[in-house]
Amino acid sequence: MQYDVIVIGSGPGGYVAAIRCAQLGLKTAIVEKYNTLGGTCLNVGCIPSKALLDSSEHYHNAAHAFTTHGIKLDNLGVDFGQMVKRKQEVVDANTSGISYLMKKNKIDTHFGTGSFKDKNTITVKKADGTETEITGKNVIIATGSKPSALPFLPIDKKRVITSTEALSLTEIPKHLVLIGGGVIGLELGSVYARLGSKVSVIEFMDGIIPTMDKGLGRELQKVLTKLGMEFYLGHKVTGATVNGDEVTVNFDTPKGEKKELKGDYCLVAVGRIAYTDGLGLDKIGITVEERGRKITVNDHLETSVKGVYAIGDVIKGAMLAHKAEDEGTLVAEIIAGQKPHIDYNLIPGVVYTWPEVAAVGQTEEQLKAAGVKYKTGSFPFKASGRARASGDLDGFVKVLADAVTDEILGVHMIGPRAADMIAEAVVAMEFRASAEDIARISHAHPTYTEAMREACLAATENRAIHI
Ligand code: FAD
Ligand code: NAD
Repeated sequence: MQYDVIVIGSGPGGYVAAIRCAQLGLKTAIVEKYNTLGGTCLNVGCIPSKALLDSSEHYHNAAHAFTTHGIKLDNLGVDFGQMVKRKQEVVDANTSGISYLMKKNKIDTHFGTGSFKDKNTITVKKADGTETEITGKNVIIATGSKPSALPFLPIDKKRVITSTEALSLTEIPKHLVLIGGGVIGLELGSVYARLGSKVSVIEFMDGIIPTMDKGLGRELQKVLTKLGMEFYLGHKVTGATVNGDEVTVNFDTPKGEKKELKGDYCLVAVGRIAYTDGLGLDKIGITVEERGRKITVNDHLETSVKGVYAIGDVIKGAMLAHKAEDEGTLVAEIIAGQKPHIDYNLIPGVVYTWPEVAAVGQTEEQLKAAGVKYKTGSFPFKASGRARASGDLDGFVKVLADAVTDEILGVHMIGPRAADMIAEAVVAMEFRASAEDIARISHAHPTYTEAMREACLAATENRAIHI
């Protein structure tokens, strides 16, 4: 079987690359080692985590917010089995949707582990041990990532777990000890805190979501503390032991004192590493970076071997589904002879807690370090009529604009529906809007998006109307 393009891996990078290749008239195959398509994102990442976040948020609101709206409920409870079952139905609907899209676009799907025989030949080893060979003029590696582990803390997948197991537990933990106050930790920590678990977060750095603008982490920590989560910041985990149903996590305080926490589950969420096992990269002379095991690519996302490209979590940059998708599109268009471009500065980042956290562009810390003169405009949701109506008063929108040109350089928000609202900031920055441009554009009233306009007004000669 001969193709113009073979894509290895069917996550958001791989399947989008395959569809774009097919749209451009390239004969395309996709290889996937699991028996469902969609990769980490659809099977054990973005989609199932959002399904559980939505379910747990409904429960939490019913338990804590409904009475203020004048809604009374008797005998409120959680059917956790049903919640997890629904999550799986959401996953199944999404993954079968990708199968449909492969057929619709006449992309051949080969289930099995793909490995390089040579730079144009991929051996596909099926689960039953049989092998087939397919050849392609171009190959796109989109094999994604897997959870990182700590060398001194083995994951047994029963009591010491990763996000994958945390998405399919059979019971609500009584005490979830979470290592890592990053995106996965806080999203899944929120799920279980809302369902009644005690959640303790041990984070190595001195703030949560440490790579985002510092103000966001501080505000999110306040809100999650109200939810009942407890934080051990600047603490260093040293080990964990499992004894029956109990796991004891040992860690050092910033002053070097020894501490321990006992829980029924320990979720290790300390980042992810690129996944290239079994690909046979050495056979074609592709090496991976020692740290993070990422494949090195040039500006066209081509590896050191001509005609072999890599995209998504397996290469440098943020490990985000939409980044992988954009790279899939970019490589397909490069193979088809086009000249696409990605502005990596404008890939938004979102944390799906409630309130949601979303950001794009430069942080204050980055602008300071680069010596850029900037001005700030902020608007708190407690001053928004829409937020008052829904009772979502935590959070703010912060706009950073160039002190001289007024061009928007970064937008950082925490608040209701921030994940959707950040799109306005991305569009504004793609078109190099000034803060005043956005301040002069009509925003429907009452909406959360007015907070973006008000923050831009605040950055424009302090002209915010409602603060
Ligand atoms: P993946 O999605 O990892 O897909 C790689 C695929 O390649 C897999 O299906 C794998 O089986 C297959 N594969 C690997 N090796 C081979 C081989 N040799 N042969 C054949 N197939 C192979 N990102 C967001 O943007 N938003 C979110 O809300 C979000 N939530 C997340 C929540 C969790 C719990 C996790 C773990 C991640 C989340 N992410 C989120 C990150 C997102 O899932 C990844 O950035 C994204 O899936 C990367 O896409 P990818 O195509 O590079 O790789
Ligand atoms: P992360 O990098 O977001 O967070 C890991 C956290 O663990 C960091 O805060 C880090 O300081 C901390 N840490 C590292 N080593 C530690 C140690 N020994 N002890 C205590 N803390 C330690 O990684 P993650 O949360 O595992 O997520 C992995 C990837 O998945 C991320 O790159 C993220 O982009 C992606 N993801 C995205 C979303 C989303 O877009 N909403 C959701 C989930 C995951």
